Amino acid sequence: MTAYLDNAATTPVSEAAAQAALEAMREGWGNPSSRYPLGSRAAARLRQDRETVARALGCRADEIFFTSCGTEGDNWAIQAAVHKNRRVGKHIITTAIEHAAVLEPCRRLEQAGYEVTCLPPNRDGSVSLEALEAALRPDTVLVSMMLVNNELGSVLPVREAVRLTRRLAPKALFHTDAVQGFLKIPFTPKELGVDLLTVSGHKIHAPKGVGALYIRSGLGLEPFILGGGQERGLRSGTEATAQIAALAAACREGKERFDRDVAHMEELKAYTLEQLALRVPKAKRVGAGTAPHILALTLPGYKAEVLVRVLGDMGVCVSAGSACHRGKPSHVYAAMGLSKGERDGSFRVSFSGETRREEVDALVDGLVRARDGLFTTMS
Ligand code: PLP
Repeated sequence: MTAYLDNAATTPVSEAAAQAALEAMREGWGNPSSRYPLGSRAAARLRQDRETVARALGCRADEIFFTSCGTEGDNWAIQAAVHKNRRVGKHIITTAIEHAAVLEPCRRLEQAGYEVTCLPPNRDGSVSLEALEAALRPDTVLVSMMLVNNELGSVLPVREAVRLTRRLAPKALFHTDAVQGFLKIPFTPKELGVDLLTVSGHKIHAPKGVGALYIRSGLGLEPFILGGGQERGLRSGTEATAQIAALAAACREGKERFDRDVAHMEELKAYTLEQLALRVPKAKRVGAGTAPHILALTLPGYKAEVLVRVLGDMGVCVSAGSACHRGKPSHVYAAMGLSKGERDGSFRVSFSGETRREEVDALVDGLVRARDGLFTTMS
C-alpha cells in the first residue's frame, strides 16, 4: 500500500479533472482565437471555465488570468506591481517564510536596486502585524505576504495586513500567494482586500502546468507576456485549454466538497497527533499551523532526509521541508529559530480530502520501525 501524505507538494489528479482535460483534447481542441465554430466552441468553453474558477475563488471572471503554475503567478504579480509603482519608490516588504517563487523574484529586484524587508516569523510560524507596521513606509511599492505557509500550515494575517498597508503605505500594492490556502481555508480576494492573488492547479487535484492569478478589477497592469493578446492582452500565448478545463473541474469539485474535505483533514490531523503522542512521543509539532491539510513535525536527533527515504521504502510519502527546495536546508525552519537538531529532524505531513486513516496508521507504524531501526545523530 502507498500511503500518500505529501499533498502540499502535489495532489493526485481527480477523475473529473482528468475527464475534463481529455474531453478538451479529444473534442474541444480548437484554438479559442479561431473564427469558425470549432474555435468558437473552444472560446465558449474557456469562458465557462473562467467563470467556474472565479466562482470557486469568489471573484469576477474578468479578474481571473490563467497561468502555467503558481510560480508564474507569483513572478507575474511581483514584476507587474513594482513596474506599476516604479515612480512611487523602491521598497518591498515580504516575509522570510515565503515560497522561493516569491523570495527569488524579490532577491532579483534587490540586485536591481530595490530594498527588500523580510518580516521574520514568530514562534507559531506566523508573522506579526507589529513587524509589518514598523516596516511600512510611504515609498513601499509592494507587500507580498502568503496566506498559508507551505511548510508549517500557518495562516498569516493577510486581511489585517492589507488594512495596515492601505493606511501606512497607500500606494503599495498587496499580493498574496494563496497556493496553499485555496480550497483549504475560506476566503475571497475581495474580503481579504488584496490586489493580486496566486493559485495553482496541482495543489487542488488538477494537473501540473496550470494556475491562475487574480488581478483586482481596474488595477491596470502592463502586459506580462507580449504576443497575440490572449488573457485580455496581459499574458499572451494560446490558452492551455485542456489544463484550464481540468482546473475548472477541480475547482467545481473542490468548492462543492469544501466543508466535508476540511472537516475530514482536520480530523486526520488530530488523529495523527493523537497516534504520535501514544506511539512516537519524541515527535514534536513545529509551529501551530491551523491550516487543515499541513502538519509540521520534527523528530530531534534524526535526519529528516534519511527518515523520508526510509519511510519511502515502506511506501509512506512525506517530505523533508519543502519539496521545491530539493534537499537544500529549509529557510523557513531556519527563520523560526529552531535548534539544529529540531531543524535536521523536521518533516511535513500533508493531507487531502481523499487521505485515509490507514495511511496515517502506515506513517505511525513506519516511524516506530524507523525509530527502532535508525541510529540517531544525537545519543
Ligand atoms: N507558493 C506556494 C506556497 C507553494 O507551496 C508552491 C508549490 O509548492 C508554489 C508557490 C509554486 O507553485 P507551482 O508548483 O504551481 O509552481
